[in-house]
Amino acid sequence: MNLILFGAPGAGKGTQGALLASRFDIPRISTGDLLRESVRQGTPLGVQAKRYMDAGELVPDAVLLGLVREALASDAARNGFILDGYPRNVAQAEALDEMLCSLGRRVDDVAVLDVPDDVVVKRIAGRRSCPCCGSVFNIYFEPPRHEDQCDGCGGKLVQRADDREETVRRRLQVYREQTQPVLAYYQTHGTPIVTLEGDRTVDEVQAELVSSLAS
Ligand code: AMP
Repeated sequence: MNLILFGAPGAGKGTQGALLASRFDIPRISTGDLLRESVRQGTPLGVQAKRYMDAGELVPDAVLLGLVREALASDAARNGFILDGYPRNVAQAEALDEMLCSLGRRVDDVAVLDVPDDVVVKRIAGRRSCPCCGSVFNIYFEPPRHEDQCDGCGGKLVQRADDREETVRRRLQVYREQTQPVLAYYQTHGTPIVTLEGDRTVDEVQAELVSSLAS
């Protein structure tokens, strides 16, 4: 299965992608995760990407190419992959087609997770994580017992720079302007697209996703 998980930031692509990846034993390739890892390691690529990420803007396409190419060509992805957060504009969709073509592969399906903007803002801007043990909370949906304090280890909870509300709203605008046209690209190319209502429980969305991919 060569799948693109599509949807606004905070639509649940990461959660659903991880579940699908373990169910089908194929890797979830998240460009956001790959970039954050580069930032954490302080590589030149990470240094270049950070200021775009913190501002909620797209990192330049050329920065992503090598990361994605390497992940797609890896042995882990030989039986399929789940792309999460790529492609995010039409130029990236074209670059992806070229990369896959050179590997003798193609995108089989696009699954769109549809979630209203106000839910996305609460999901992302409400997120707080513990730098000590990695636990994640949400001040609206899964609040810690004590404000700003990790239930597990008592560490002080922090908000990711690109999770601030004004940055989330910018990320949503970028999604509408640059990323949504990617759907028309796949429609034109005849790639099957399934759209799911993403504002439901994780299990409900996963069940529908699995059954729609099977059919
Ligand atoms: P994500 O975790 O997928 O929401 O990605 C976090 C941030 O990483 C985004 O707001 C962008 O700044 C950057 N990013 C991730 N994937 C891409 C991509 N395909 N193209 C450009 N920038 C990206």
